[in-house]
Amino acid sequence: MSHLTVRHLTKGFGQNKVLSDLNFSVEKEEFVSILGPSGSGKSTIFNLIGGILTPETGEILLDGETIIGKRGSIGFMPQTPALLPWRTVLQNVLLGGELQGEKDRDKAVEMLKKAGLGDYIQARPDELSGGMKQRVAFIRALLSPQSLICLDEPFSALDELTRLEMQKWLLSILGEYRRTVLFVTHSIEEALFLSDRIIVLSPKPAHVTAEFTVPFKRPRNESLFLEEEFLKWKRSIYFSLKK
Ligand code: ADP
Ligand code: MG
Repeated sequence: MSHLTVRHLTKGFGQNKVLSDLNFSVEKEEFVSILGPSGSGKSTIFNLIGGILTPETGEILLDGETIIGKRGSIGFMPQTPALLPWRTVLQNVLLGGELQGEKDRDKAVEMLKKAGLGDYIQARPDELSGGMKQRVAFIRALLSPQSLICLDEPFSALDELTRLEMQKWLLSILGEYRRTVLFVTHSIEEALFLSDRIIVLSPKPAHVTAEFTVPFKRPRNESLFLEEEFLKWKRSIYFSLKK
């Protein structure tokens, strides 16, 4: 049984048909990217999985149980990190699962230190840069009790160098704290660098047009971007998006 199964999902807003017969699955501890053009319905997929929207037809199963219309079954990190400005960094990361125990607190502090935020544990969000805020939001998602974490284009607003730093950081932290991740992006390179598997969407109304199992060994580093094999994969995925 897959960890997450999406079957025959259809969703529209009035005349605007957004998803049409969408099918995919995510296995436990897998990192899967959904790659699709802007406006193809990627955020809509997350809103359906997160229970904020309900589909017209289809099933969404988490460990075999339906989660349609149920909020709170997944850990979610939105496009812009929603941190509470009046709380400290530490209070913000502990918020997700309403974790209070000393063990959770110690783990949070350890993760914040590893994320280079050791000096900012008691700081307020407005003292942080964009990249730092995202690391805080991501650690909050990692600490949440939900087994599936959904990330919606978390790095798209960052400049190129910060984005690369964040991607490397994400790989290293997941190497240490393995989780199941569903990641949305419109960047082929980002999907290839991070994922175990890539699901390619058609333009709206979206369905799955191709699926790629990424062969690159972990741990990965940025030299991968220059390898012939990487460029070859980038080209195939590019053409699958153009179809
Ligand atoms: P993506 O994340 O791939 O850029 P979205 O899922 O945000 O795409 O949007 C896909 C389509 O669905 C767009 O045409 C958008 O206008 C429409 N849409 C998304 N959410 C809503 C909503 N809550 N109400 C009405 N239309 C929506
Ligand atoms: Mg979106």
